[in-house]
Amino acid sequence: MNIAGVEHIGIAVRDLDAAVERLETVLGIKCKTRERVESSKVEMAVFEVGNTKIELVTSAAEGSPIAKFLAERGNGIHHICLKVRDIKGCLEELTEKGVDLIDKTPRQGASGHAIAFLSPKSVFSILVELSESK
Ligand code: ZN
Repeated sequence: MNIAGVEHIGIAVRDLDAAVERLETVLGIKCKTRERVESSKVEMAVFEVGNTKIELVTSAAEGSPIAKFLAERGNGIHHICLKVRDIKGCLEELTEKGVDLIDKTPRQGASGHAIAFLSPKSVFSILVELSESK
């Protein structure tokens, strides 16, 4: 598997506006983009920090996975996204290794990237997202 870096760190937040304001005020970083991804039932705000990004994620629909996460754990680090060059090849390799995948095939994420999530059961309770940019 060819991992090119950390694409972003995903942080689940209950109140996206308040979280954006807090990061801008406390850390002095500016929100670059806000986007709603219907397929994932999320709304996100992205901050560029050096070679990587912080992605604040909140639920955009009742019963979404993020809504469930927030209800169980509250605000906090949700996932780590790794930048890969051949997401389909990565998923095939992981399947061959017997890794439990949430997405067996890539789907469209924010900024038109192809993304897929691994099950936290497979990676030491860490939710890992793979992302390939076009
Ligand atoms: Zn993400």
